[in-house]
Amino acid sequence: MNQLIDKHGRTINYLRMAVTDRCNLRCQYCMPATGNDFVERKQLLSYKEMYRITRVLSDLGITKIRLTGGEPFVRTDFINFLQMLSFNDKLEEINITTNGVLLYKYLPELENLGKIKHINLSLDTLKADKFRTITRMDVFDRVMQSFDYLKNSNQLKLKVNFVVQSGINTDEIIDFIELTKDKAISVRFIEEMPFNGVGLKDYKQTWDYETILNHINKHYQEITPLVSKKSSTSVNFSLPSYKGSFGIIPAFTRTICHDCNRIRITSTGNFKNCLFDEGVFSVRDFLRKGVSDNDLKELFIKTVHQKPANGFIAEQSRANKNISESMSNIGG
Ligand code: SAM
Ligand code: SF4
Repeated sequence: MNQLIDKHGRTINYLRMAVTDRCNLRCQYCMPATGNDFVERKQLLSYKEMYRITRVLSDLGITKIRLTGGEPFVRTDFINFLQMLSFNDKLEEINITTNGVLLYKYLPELENLGKIKHINLSLDTLKADKFRTITRMDVFDRVMQSFDYLKNSNQLKLKVNFVVQSGINTDEIIDFIELTKDKAISVRFIEEMPFNGVGLKDYKQTWDYETILNHINKHYQEITPLVSKKSSTSVNFSLPSYKGSFGIIPAFTRTICHDCNRIRITSTGNFKNCLFDEGVFSVRDFLRKGVSDNDLKELFIKTVHQKPANGFIAEQSRANKNISESMSNIGG
C-alpha cells in the first residue's frame, strides 16, 4: 500500500532520480559554456546507494522511476544499473530522459529489458548548425541516429522534449508537430526555466504556455485537447488523422502542481519534494551514517507529508532566492 501521501492528499508514486551531474553536451539553457563545477565523484550516489533508495521507496509505493541527469548514459555501467533495477518487481516502469548522444548504442538492449517503457529524448531543433549553437557540441548526427531508431520502435515509446527558446527555435515548433503526423510519437514543448547554472536571465517568460498554444492555434484549425492522466506534466493535444500527439509543459508558470505525484533525488543524494525547493535532506548522508531501512522509510514518509502545495510556495521557502542551479545538478 502506498504510504507516501502528502498533507494535501496527493499520493506520491513517481521518483525522478539523477544518476550523474556530468554531461556530454552544454545546452545554453542548462549550463554555462565552461565551469559548472561538477562534484567530486565520491559525492555522487553510488549505484548500490541508488539501488537501496529505490528499493526502500518502492516498498512505500513508488512504482515508476525516471532516470535522468546530467546525461545518464555518460555514467559508466548505466546499462547494468538498469538491469539491476528491472529485477525490482514493485517497479512497473523505468523511464529515461536522455540527450540521445550515446543512446543509439544501447537501444536494442533497452528494448530487451522490458520494463523501460518511455524514452524522453531532448531535441530542440532539426537543424545541425542550430543544434551546435544550442548544445555547444557537434554531435547532431548521433542524436538523430537515436531519434530514427526510436521513432520506429514498438517497445519503447518516444517522447521528444523541446525547450522553447525565445528567438532561437520557436520557428521550428510547427516542424516538430509535423513529426507526429506519421509516427505515434509525442512532442512536448517545455517552457524554459531559469535553471541554467548561471543565475537568472531577465526572466520575462516571453514564450509561455499561452504564447506557445496561440502560435500553434494560428497554424491548425482543429486542435483537440486530450484527456491526460491526472498527474501528467503536460497539457496534451492531437490533430485529426495525426498518429502522435503534442503537449505543452508549463514548467515555469506551474499550473500543473495540484496533481503532482513526484519526488526527486539529485545525483548527490539530495531529496527534493519539488523541483523548485532547495533540497530537504541528504539521503546520501543518512545512508553513509548507517541508517536502517525502517528509519529511512520513516524519514521519507514524514518528509513527503510536508510536500509544498505548489512550486511557488516551494520557491518562497528557499533560503537562497536565486534559482540558479543547473538542471543537470537537479535532475530534470
Ligand atoms: N541530459 C538529459 C537530457 O537532456 O535529456 C537529461 C537531463 S536534462 C537536465 C532533462 C530535461 O531538462 C531535458 O529535456 C532538458 O531539455 C530540460 N531542461 C534543462 N534545462 C532546462 C531549463 N532551463 N528549462 C527547461 N527545461 C530544461
Ligand atoms: Fe546536458 Fe541535458 Fe543539460 Fe543539455 S539539458 S546540458 S543534455 S543535462
